[in-house]
Amino acid sequence: MDYVIIADEYEKIEATTKRLEMTDLLVGLLKNTSVNVISKVVYLTQGKLYPDFMGVEMGIAEKLAIKALARASGQRESEIQSDLQKSGDIGETSGKFLAKRKQSTFFTKKLTVEHVYETLDKMAKTSGSGAVESKMALLAGLLSDASPKEAKWIIRTVTGNLRLGIADMTMLDALAIAYGGGKEARELIERAYNISSDLGRVASEVAEKGLDGIKKFQVMVFEPIRPMLAERLASPEEILEKLGGKCVAEYKYDGERVQAHKKDGKVVLFSRRLENISDQYPDAVELIKEKIAAKEAILEAECVAIDLETGDMRPFQELMHRRRKYGVEAAMEQYPISLFTFEALYVDGKDLTLEPFPQRRKALEKIVKESDRIKPAIQKLVKNPKELEDFFEEAIEKGCEGLMCKSVGKDSVYQAGSRGWLWIKYKRDYKSEMTDTVDLVVVGAFHGRGKRVGTYGALLLATYNDEADTFETVTKCGTGFTDKDLKTLHETLQKHVIPRKNSRVQSTLEADVWFEPNLVLEILGAEITLSPIHTCAMDSIRKGSGLAIRFPRFTGKYRTDKSPEDATTSKEIVEMYRGQLKKISEPPQAQKSDTLN
Ligand code: AMP
Repeated sequence: MDYVIIADEYEKIEATTKRLEMTDLLVGLLKNTSVNVISKVVYLTQGKLYPDFMGVEMGIAEKLAIKALARASGQRESEIQSDLQKSGDIGETSGKFLAKRKQSTFFTKKLTVEHVYETLDKMAKTSGSGAVESKMALLAGLLSDASPKEAKWIIRTVTGNLRLGIADMTMLDALAIAYGGGKEARELIERAYNISSDLGRVASEVAEKGLDGIKKFQVMVFEPIRPMLAERLASPEEILEKLGGKCVAEYKYDGERVQAHKKDGKVVLFSRRLENISDQYPDAVELIKEKIAAKEAILEAECVAIDLETGDMRPFQELMHRRRKYGVEAAMEQYPISLFTFEALYVDGKDLTLEPFPQRRKALEKIVKESDRIKPAIQKLVKNPKELEDFFEEAIEKGCEGLMCKSVGKDSVYQAGSRGWLWIKYKRDYKSEMTDTVDLVVVGAFHGRGKRVGTYGALLLATYNDEADTFETVTKCGTGFTDKDLKTLHETLQKHVIPRKNSRVQSTLEADVWFEPNLVLEILGAEITLSPIHTCAMDSIRKGSGLAIRFPRFTGKYRTDKSPEDATTSKEIVEMYRGQLKKISEPPQAQKSDTLN
């Protein structure tokens, strides 16, 4: 196919501002394209060589393009540069300078789409020493064979200035009209795109096999599926009503979404924005290799920072230290992660995206070899608002953001690439941030694991209720202790071990070891939340709930100057909770996905 056909069409598309007209022009171009080059034409028309998830960038700097243009046109770089300053468009400037070429060097070879594509591909893949010179030579060669009009579009393509504005949805419309028999075919074609993220493959399939081919279109390992997204509602009542009276509520973990693809011992992880993030998480790659009992699989998980010694989840901010290209090993040591899997989309030859959610979950449970580092998301079938609210509090206290409430109906398919009511998120609209430290009494402990075997992994801490003269648990803390602290604590606390819970201690949790209330420690937490587990100030904010401190950390201060009755009181925690209530404003969706996952 001659490249000039594309260049002509681009000229016309550029000249229109109307979307319908643009689609018509695109339809014309696609109809004129033969099956064997259609994927290339589709990529090029969006200024790409491959689908985005391949991460191949054309990346030719303007300066390099000017050099190539100077060589191909026989003009001086400085002249090109000053013309560019006036025109502001490197495409226009290229066309102009190539038109000035002497007749003798005028183009001799007809440029084909295949040749242009291959040359650009070679340029994109050239790296190492001498790469800049080789890229420049390749581009200059291409420009020498190009007409001014062709040069304009080639230069715009390589410098990332195509400016045609052909969005994915316009391309899907055009494909539906050109090869699907009309716009009605758009839905089917869009689904193919949503499960492959590859418009080139979709175009080849529909051009070659028509709608029948598209109906049979399947997910493919190593091609990311566009993620399903959730709607949001503010109350358990509304959520249950929307989901037909019952739903599966799952912990909404606060980390980064990863889509893991596994085949023949190879694993690739994609981010929510479908970028390959495997290099950031070698530990997650290993987990998928070892703990997923399937030869081929596509699954989704939330990757969360954890404390290896206690198994507790850590705040989202800690995971952000893993967003790096260099020093990955050190970051991996310092900020370990766990995976909480929540979807199985493909397992050993079977595409599960159209199966109802309970079936997908069964498939997921079958293949995850559960360990401390990887497990299916904790979930519960809930049928009334109270169950949902209690489960929500539990999730928050454990370090989650809230709940994902999921439809279990027959139609609960995986809606790739769209936000719908099959998933509803339930998050808080306020939180009670802690700015002050509190002094808490050690009333129990849990055995350590990992490096902490033989010492305590976490301590059960309580406030003092000065009316009832009791100690009420408010948090479990395993963070902030140095190795020396752990040793000292173990020794000091030995003296206070008692065979069963002290009668003044109010606890629903069963500690591994109980202590006489004695030692007071200074603790800093992230916030105070309602809790179905802890007994601090039970019933004072909400019936059946106590208060808890989320993400507690020992400050290093042993308050040996304080007796347990001098510790922070439950009433003070209530005051802190009330006084620090802050509205959480939800950032707009687009922004959030940019900054978070
Ligand atoms: P949001 O980013 O607030 O729209 O919430 C959606 C995100 O929650 C997803 O993209 C996942 O990264 C995350 N998430 C955490 N836990 C789950 C879960 N159990 N099911 C689905 N998504 C989850």
